[in-house]
Amino acid sequence: MTANDRPTAVVTGASSGIGAATARALGAAGFHVVLGARRVERCEEIAKEIDGTALPLDVTDRESVRAFADAVPEAKLLVNNAGGAKGLEPVADADEDDWRWMWETNVAGTLRLTQAFLPKLRASGDGHIVTVTSIAALDFYDNGAGYTGAKHAQAMLHRTLRGELLGEPIRITEICPGMVETEFSEVRLGDAEKAAKVYEGLTPLTADDVADTIVFAATRPSHVNLDQIVLKPRDQASGTRRHRR
Ligand code: NAP
Repeated sequence: MTANDRPTAVVTGASSGIGAATARALGAAGFHVVLGARRVERCEEIAKEIDGTALPLDVTDRESVRAFADAVPEAKLLVNNAGGAKGLEPVADADEDDWRWMWETNVAGTLRLTQAFLPKLRASGDGHIVTVTSIAALDFYDNGAGYTGAKHAQAMLHRTLRGELLGEPIRITEICPGMVETEFSEVRLGDAEKAAKVYEGLTPLTADDVADTIVFAATRPSHVNLDQIVLKPRDQASGTRRHRR
């Protein structure tokens, strides 16, 4: 327990979208939330609202992860959320730098944060690792191999922990969202107008919908492990099938 006897939750990628909504929702649920991202000024605004702590974090930089973890004395919950996609090209035209970005952020980032916080989660006596993968970790689709590949790898890392940590007081939950309207598509396509078209004619999930689900998993009794939660808009059946009005 820290800051006013609240359990500490660490949320990566808390400057935007799902991470920001999750930080707010965990704050409302009684956690002291540590928010990490590169745009730390955004995290600071949210931290003020929920009496949390904002710290700079670049999950692709080992030194940044070390400094971030050193500044957090204890943790009960780690939400590996930082990540995203870059590009939407067929394999034939894929950009190697985009693939490296997706691997470094989603996969190696989750590895670094998990390694940095495992000792603290263990020491809490009742730890929990939540990793936000995607429905892209469950299937593949044309033009998406860089992202589906990175999300599969991130999911393998996460799911492997379930067995490796069996017998320890640490729960493991994978969250697999379908379409959520955040800055995700703008980052992926590099263009706000193109990004808006992704959600045209359908009702996507909101970041708050995903945050609610994360808080639900985190607030079950300690013996209840929600292994994997898949949530999609009603208008989306799979990575490739959507209903648009
Ligand atoms: P978003 O609004 O673009 O947020 C992405 C977050 O990741 C930002 O806070 C960003 O913060 C952070 N981030 C990116 N690179 C980082 C780095 N090197 N170090 C630290 N933080 C970094 O997108 P989102 O939809 O909320 O995405 C959150 C997670 O959900 C991602 O893992 C994404 O793959 C997953 N997801 C999204 C959807 C969707 O449809 N939106 C669906 C399934 C899964 P800074 O830029 O400030 O560092």
